[in-house]
Amino acid sequence: MFDNFTKTLTDVAGRMNAHADAVLVLSSPQRVLEVDLPVEMDDGSVQIFHGYRVQYNNVRGPYKGGIRFHPSVNLDEIKALAGWMTIKTAVVNIPFGGAKGGITVTPQELSDEELQRLSRLFVQSVSPMIGPHTDIPAPDINTNEQIMAWFTDEYMRLNGREMQAQAAFTGKPLSIGGSHGREAATGFGGLVVLLEYLKHKNKNPKGMTIAIQGFGNVGSHFARLADEAGFIIVAVSDSHGGVYHPKGLDISQIIQAVNMGGRLPKNVCYPKLSVEDASSDQEECTSLTNEELLRLKVDVLVPAAIENQITDANAHNIQASYILELANGATTPEADAIINKRGVPIIPDIIANAGGVTASYFEWTQNLQNLYWEENEVNTKLQRKMTAALQEVLREQAASTSSLREAAYRIAIQRLQEAMLHRGWIRPRTHDTAGHVNGA
Ligand code: NAD
Repeated sequence: MFDNFTKTLTDVAGRMNAHADAVLVLSSPQRVLEVDLPVEMDDGSVQIFHGYRVQYNNVRGPYKGGIRFHPSVNLDEIKALAGWMTIKTAVVNIPFGGAKGGITVTPQELSDEELQRLSRLFVQSVSPMIGPHTDIPAPDINTNEQIMAWFTDEYMRLNGREMQAQAAFTGKPLSIGGSHGREAATGFGGLVVLLEYLKHKNKNPKGMTIAIQGFGNVGSHFARLADEAGFIIVAVSDSHGGVYHPKGLDISQIIQAVNMGGRLPKNVCYPKLSVEDASSDQEECTSLTNEELLRLKVDVLVPAAIENQITDANAHNIQASYILELANGATTPEADAIINKRGVPIIPDIIANAGGVTASYFEWTQNLQNLYWEENEVNTKLQRKMTAALQEVLREQAASTSSLREAAYRIAIQRLQEAMLHRGWIRPRTHDTAGHVNGA
């Protein structure tokens, strides 16, 4: 995965004639921490879990990025995700750098008490290098408000309980300094950029069909909001597979079922049927694999689960008209090239899912001021920021006749190299205006 990140970075940087020293700095992380966490299990035995924090780049502000708990977490993956965070915070122009962390664990196999001990041990290990002004972690796959609350409490136990210390983590519950709108923010931001993109293309979103891979925080909030906005969600899935109904699914019923059972209900489908359809169409509900979901003929395909789902093995079979990449790294560079050649627009992760980190920025800002905003204020600010960022990417796409991904990378690389020049991390090139930092 890290090779995927550096390949896109160096390809785009080469085409835009970026400053070679800036690209060199952006080609590796500034700091990598690996930790072994000996957790006492409920039966008294000890198990070691491996954890990581990668601080990729902080030229534009404190390191920022989520922590994931997943059995496949490894250093290569965390480095790539930390690199993408660096690009993403620059694309949406928020004053943060990029970081990422994770623990190699199957959290579903741990009791709540074991999970809490693991979370607190992780913070004990990374505490010296994180903090409200240095590195601010957040939720990611299999981590949530509860885990952020344990992280925050442990951090404040170790470092003092000053009010501002809670700004060391975002994605917290409202009761301990969380922000309204943060939980749904990644899905909300994804919908904002999709609607803005369709407006730009003069397409009416009402009645457009959507298939969503992944029904966790990001996928389920996006599904609910897209459903409310008039899209028809025809398929959703989780790691065990999915459900499909050509006339659409009842998302609120599915969310209720997931909340009760912890995962998508199997062998039960909740079609969104009109009264006339109700009796006749029940049988049209079908189960499908994640691979089948990716191949559905829909207007918008939304990968919202994990990385490397659209590859050169299935890119030719994608039938969607648009791809909204809510999962980080969902498309490999090879698949990206195939899909670009086929003329299917991809709204890339580094803008499509940036609503999460943008709302985290708002949470951090509120914590530091100890002044809290209403939900509509957060959402209005988020909508404005995401819309402005997409419009910039669209302008850059037109100017550089490139893909949306390339346009977003161009904007980010430009901003990052400009910050490096101003800070004196790199020198102006001889052919740049003498003594004038112009970031060209
Ligand atoms: P989550 O743990 O809440 O949900 C993940 C979902 O993906 C679950 O439904 C899970 O069953 C499903 N899944 C896991 N493996 C799968 C597989 N192999 N095939 C199909 N489905 C699978 O995680 P999340 O927070 O919703 O994150 C999803 C993606 O969005 C990740 O790529 C994450 O990095 C990215 N992201 C999350 C946030 C955030 O605020 N949570 C912000 C930006 C980006």
